[in-house]
Amino acid sequence: MYGSPQLLQLSGIGPGDLLREFGIPVIREIPGVGANLHDHFNTYLVWRRKQSVTINDLARSPLIKAKAAVQYAVSRSGHLSNAGIYAGAFVKSDPRLETPDLQINMFGWSAVERLRTGIKPHPFSAFTLSPVHLRPEGRGTVRIKSPDPFAPPSIRFNFLASEYDFRALIYGARLARKIAAQPALAPFAGEEVLPGPQCQSDEDMIAEIRVRGVSNLHPVGTCRMGRGVDAVVDPRLRVHGVERLRVADASIMPQVPGGNTNAPSIMIGEKCAAMVLEDAQAA
Ligand SMILES: Cc1cc2nc3c(=O)[nH]c(=O)nc-3n(C[C@H](O)[C@H](O)[C@H](O)COP(=O)(O)OP(=O)(O)OC[C@H]3O[C@@H](n4cnc5c(N)ncnc54)[C@H](O)[C@@H]3O)c2cc1C
Repeated sequence: MYGSPQLLQLSGIGPGDLLREFGIPVIREIPGVGANLHDHFNTYLVWRRKQSVTINDLARSPLIKAKAAVQYAVSRSGHLSNAGIYAGAFVKSDPRLETPDLQINMFGWSAVERLRTGIKPHPFSAFTLSPVHLRPEGRGTVRIKSPDPFAPPSIRFNFLASEYDFRALIYGARLARKIAAQPALAPFAGEEVLPGPQCQSDEDMIAEIRVRGVSNLHPVGTCRMGRGVDAVVDPRLRVHGVERLRVADASIMPQVPGGNTNAPSIMIGEKCAAMVLEDAQAA
C-alpha cells in the first residue's frame, strides 16, 4: 500500500515535480501516484474490569500465561484462541446517513499506545471500546524523500481534516460510554480509565482525539483506480499510459471501504490474476 506508490515514483511514474526534485527521469507523469491516501481513524476508551480475566492479566503474570498456553494446547480455547476483538457494531453517527460510518470494536484488553515505544498493556485488568471512523474526509499522501529505494517514504495521513471527522468520533466515544453504562455490563465494568470522567465537553473530546487517535491500519487509495487526472490504474488495474504494468493491492481502492480491508485486498489480487489470464488468452 505504501510500497506501490513508492516503487512507481522511484521508477519515474508519478507527480512530475516530485520526480524532478530527486533527479528521477519522468517516464509517465501521473499526479495521483501517492495522492488520495485514505484510512480509517479511531480513538479508544478504557474501563477497568472488575474481575482479573483480561489479556492484560495474561501479559503481566507468567503463571496465567502458562495456564493459557496449556489451555490452548489441550482444548484450543481461552485467550490465545481469539483475535482480541470480542464484539463489534456498525452504527451511524447521524440517522440521515444511508450506511453506517462508525464501527465500534470491543477488546478484552487495553494498552497505552506510543509512537516510539509501541503498544504496552495496562498493568491492571481492563477492556477497551474503540470507535472507528469509517468514512473520514481527510486525504493524505505517500511521497518519496530520496531516490534511495531503501529510504522510507514520507507518509502524511491528514486525519481530522474536517469538522465531520471530529463530530463522528465524538458521537462514537459518547456511544461507547452509553454501552459501557448498560445494566448488563454492570457486573463487569469498573471505572473509566481513559479518557476519564473529567473529559466531557466537545472541546475536551477533541483534545483527547488529537492525542489518542490513531490509524486503524487500513490505508488505501495511493494508486487509485478510475479515470481522470488523479487516477493511476484503469478498471483492469493497468497503469494509465504504461504498457505491461499493473498494480494489484489495497492502493487501487478509490476510497476506504466501510469495513476491514484484508478480504477486499485478497479479492483484488485474485481478480487481477484472472484478468491477466483473460488478457493473455485474448491476445
Ligand atoms: C497490524 C495490522 C493489523 C491488521 N489487521 C487487519 C484485520 O484484522 N483485518 C483486516 O481486514 N485487515 C487488517 N489489516 C489491514 C490488511 O492487512 C491490509 O489491508 C492488507 O494486508 C493490504 O494488502 P496489500 O497487498 O495492499 O499490502 P500488504 O499486505 O502490506 O503487502 C505488501 C507486500 O509488498 C511487499 N513490499 C513492499 N515494498 C516492496 C518492495 N519495494 N519490493 C518488494 N516487495 C515489497 C511487502 O513486504 C508486503 O509483503 C491490518 C494491518 C496491519 C498493519
